[in-house]
Amino acid sequence: PGTLACERAWVNIDLKALENNVRQIKQQLLPQTALMAVVKADGYGHGAVTVAQTALANGATWLGVATILEGIELRQADINAPILILGATHTVQEIEAIVRWQLQPTLCSPEQALIFSRHLQHPLPIHLKVDTGMSRLGPIWQQGATFIEFVSRLPNLKIASIYSHLATADDADSSFMLQQQSRLQDVLSRIQAQDIPLPKLHLANSAGTLVGPQFHYDLVRVGLALYGLYPAPHFQQAIALQPVMQVKARITQIKTLPAGSGVSYNHTFTTEQPLTVAVVGIGYADGVPRSLSNQMNVIIRGRLAPQIGAITMDQLMVDVSDVPNLQVGEVVTILGQDGKASISAETWADALGTISYEIVCGFKHRLPRILV
Ligand code: PLP
Repeated sequence: PGTLACERAWVNIDLKALENNVRQIKQQLLPQTALMAVVKADGYGHGAVTVAQTALANGATWLGVATILEGIELRQADINAPILILGATHTVQEIEAIVRWQLQPTLCSPEQALIFSRHLQHPLPIHLKVDTGMSRLGPIWQQGATFIEFVSRLPNLKIASIYSHLATADDADSSFMLQQQSRLQDVLSRIQAQDIPLPKLHLANSAGTLVGPQFHYDLVRVGLALYGLYPAPHFQQAIALQPVMQVKARITQIKTLPAGSGVSYNHTFTTEQPLTVAVVGIGYADGVPRSLSNQMNVIIRGRLAPQIGAITMDQLMVDVSDVPNLQVGEVVTILGQDGKASISAETWADALGTISYEIVCGFKHRLPRILV
């Protein structure tokens, strides 16, 4: 794509930051604990293949995706590491694709396990999920041991791991996380009492991993922290992460509006005095949430400048009255750091009442990704 890709707006992916984050996370693990890089949703908007390759080169040995297509994308990029599909898969076509592309499914119900067992011609590594309190995939923990026992008797299913997912690991109060852990322990004790050999175990997401080794077991499934984002502010003491994504756009027009001018659709902003306005070539179709209209800043020449009027599909307007001699083509930082000013995904998430995951996942393919 080269410079043309940088005409209007783009995403910088800081590979050094990503490498740093992977290494820092790896350092928190005991040598026997494997690191799974969770690269679903196109690597949380960072580019799944790039993130997977970088993570594998820096200590990760597993990859986690949500869907079969996400797994195939990695295989087509010649990535050979084991890939766990974290989502549910059921149909015969899905089973065929899993076998063909050497992906490893999550099984979360006896019915699903039966479908797999009936359609497989050769043994397949599978991963059993138990719901210890997330109330999402997997049988509820009270039925976990029966489920595992049932699957252990089915032909062609090799239980490669048993796992669960933490619902509240980012809370400062760890009591429910501990309860989930003891529910998992209860399931494991029951299956051990049935003489079913224990496979590998895993429980922790980023937050669970950062809480400490008591949650690490054989593998940790880390997404958010890879990308340099903290599951909650209190984890900043635990690890030094660097944000991987920066979003940039260029100024496409500059003009001075007279007092009383309405700006953008429905005139949600009106100038009170003559105002110099810059049009910036990025909008909600690129990943800037429209609900931040009139509520966000951008960074120009190392200083914050307020966005004004409704954010449109491909463009937004900024009050640049305080910036002298601004030129068309100058680069604006939408997310990231420039000089002393910085705007993080967390800043946007807080303003919107959401989480940084949703912000970074919002930057999809429309913007070229430049590896820096
Ligand atoms: N494990 C499972 C089952 C997930 O669904 C996810 C993502 O939501 C992760 C691990 C990674 O979580 P995080 O991004 O908080 O590290």
